[in-house]
Amino acid sequence: MPLDEYRRKRDFSKTPEPRGDGQPRGPAGGEPKPLYFCVQKHLASRLHYDLRLEHGGVLLSWAVPKGPSLDHRDRHLAVRTEDHPRDYGDFEGVIPEGYGQGVVMLWDYGTWRPEVDGVGEALRKGDLKFALDGYKLKGSWVLVRTRDRPDTPPAQRGRSWLLIKHRDFWSGPLDVTAFAPLSVKSEGDFDDILAADLPDVWVTGRAAARGGATGKALRGIIEKAAAKKSARGETAGT
Ligand code: MN
Repeated sequence: MPLDEYRRKRDFSKTPEPRGDGQPRGPAGGEPKPLYFCVQKHLASRLHYDLRLEHGGVLLSWAVPKGPSLDHRDRHLAVRTEDHPRDYGDFEGVIPEGYGQGVVMLWDYGTWRPEVDGVGEALRKGDLKFALDGYKLKGSWVLVRTRDRPDTPPAQRGRSWLLIKHRDFWSGPLDVTAFAPLSVKSEGDFDDILAADLPDVWVTGRAAARGGATGKALRGIIEKAAAKKSARGETAGT
């Protein structure tokens, strides 16, 4: 059951994330065409970018701490995470508590195409070549699994990959995460997404009481969101 881990980690009475009960789209026994991909920018305990590729009725998922790079010389760590349901693909919102607590932004989406004969076999071999056609990310890429270190904990073994842009028309030194930081769904930033759905508990500070750069960034975003929310409230009241 590919979504067991996804469901085990979440309490759906407390998170707005989809359970994934819907039928996977596409013809029975075959992959739909074209295949969907997305990248969700996720401000959780650490900022990362979740790359998701539709395959076998679910979204294969990798968390990329630095985000995708268009520079073919960069090799960015991509940690394989649990498969997500297909209807997670356009999710954007606030996870108020629990696993993944934070803000999710739909940073890019579009279609993808394997550049290998079999995706299952490529995953087993740890070498998946593919092409993306999104708003921000295009062209040819590869995910390569890296060897585990001797001190890698058992639960983490085999999860470490590198995301690399192939050199092509769409590669170059542009920092795409800085150049195009906003949502392709709402066109807003994290504070805009939060302003629409700011959990009370966050305003009083418990969720934002994290240390380090993430905690600081989150407190700033919460402040901005609260200001936007109250400005909107006054407008609505007049
Ligand atoms: Mn994530």
